[in-house]
Amino acid sequence: MQMYDYMLVGQGISGTMLSWFLQKAGKRVLMYDDARPGTASRTASGIINPVSGRKFELAWLYETIYPLAVRTYREMEAELGISCFHERDIWNVWPSAQMRDAFAAALPATPYMQQPEAPRHEATLHQPFGAGIVKGANVQLNTLLPAWRQRLHLRTERFNAAALNITEQGVRYGDVSAAAVIFCEGVDSPSNPWFGKLKFLPNKGEALVIRAALHTRDIIKKGITLVPLEDGTYWAGATFSWDYADAAPTAEKRAEIEESLRQLLKVPYTVEAHLSAIRPSGPDRRPLVGMHPRFPQVGIFNGMGSKGCSLAPWAAEQFVRHLLEATPLPPEIDIKRYFNALR
Ligand SMILES: Cc1cc2nc3c(=O)[nH]c(=O)nc-3n(C[C@H](O)[C@H](O)[C@H](O)COP(=O)(O)OP(=O)(O)OC[C@H]3O[C@@H](n4cnc5c(N)ncnc54)[C@H](O)[C@@H]3O)c2cc1C
Repeated sequence: MQMYDYMLVGQGISGTMLSWFLQKAGKRVLMYDDARPGTASRTASGIINPVSGRKFELAWLYETIYPLAVRTYREMEAELGISCFHERDIWNVWPSAQMRDAFAAALPATPYMQQPEAPRHEATLHQPFGAGIVKGANVQLNTLLPAWRQRLHLRTERFNAAALNITEQGVRYGDVSAAAVIFCEGVDSPSNPWFGKLKFLPNKGEALVIRAALHTRDIIKKGITLVPLEDGTYWAGATFSWDYADAAPTAEKRAEIEESLRQLLKVPYTVEAHLSAIRPSGPDRRPLVGMHPRFPQVGIFNGMGSKGCSLAPWAAEQFVRHLLEATPLPPEIDIKRYFNALR
């Protein structure tokens, strides 16, 4: 029998962050991940945007979660010898005079927004109402996740929750025993035997990878968002749909993204790939974190919604302090708020 402290199921950004903090605390972790393509973490471009909405409101707990995210990604880059975290200007191209004025009105409220000192992208973008700068970042998940995978005790297979034995000492699965198992399964959560009753409001996102002579390291945003990738292409997305038949890319959403591109770009582009995946969102758009009320050997780390890159480092750190030091979880992410559904 092989002995671990924790079995984790799922190596998206959630499982990656949880295993990082557990291993940093000296715990032995065994990761199960089936390596399937088309998951949220294998599709997202990893934008971290401090503000959202027509009033440019600061994201929930941003002043806490962003510094921790920066520190965590920098530490992982140093440890893994990779470059995956990029602080970037988000060049917001205004769709109307109203948005330009709303930005100007919101400017004094946050240090994350600036009026541009000089025009940019004049040869490549249509910007009749001008643009504003938001200080953001992006995480190249397709660099980070495979690099971290090399540092894990890993089984590349589908974990069959029905074959898990819960014992007084912990959990047993095949030839492995551990004190606990934590499911970081993303959108597979509704079929989990212990957490399937938690309400989920998943939504689908589609994006294109395009080639265009934009020659910029800025993130560009107008309806859709363009994120520079390492090979000179740009990730262009994403759409949101709550009503969808399956996870496959659709002609309708491709046409929607291409219409936005035609309105924004002065230069031609070609489409190199069409991506789609489902975002794992809970009903209140806050992470779902904690151990089961009746089976304290079984836990969940999920519900990152559309903000996995900024939320997962902070939520994972909180969870590990809770597991190892019995520090209470912040109530907004603690699954206690849904215990009635689980008992
Ligand atoms: C189009 C799109 C764009 C997005 N853009 C952004 C963005 O710009 N910024 C941002 O922060 N977030 C973005 N998101 C959201 C972000 O992708 C998610 O918040 C995040 O990836 C969720 O990560 P996760 O690890 O919880 O789930 P997932 O990424 O779904 O990972 C779950 C993992 O578990 C594995 N798994 C599941 N069940 C099993 C099992 N039984 N056995 C073995 N393995 C299993 C899966 O294969 C997968 O690897 C976007 C999402 C989409 C779809």
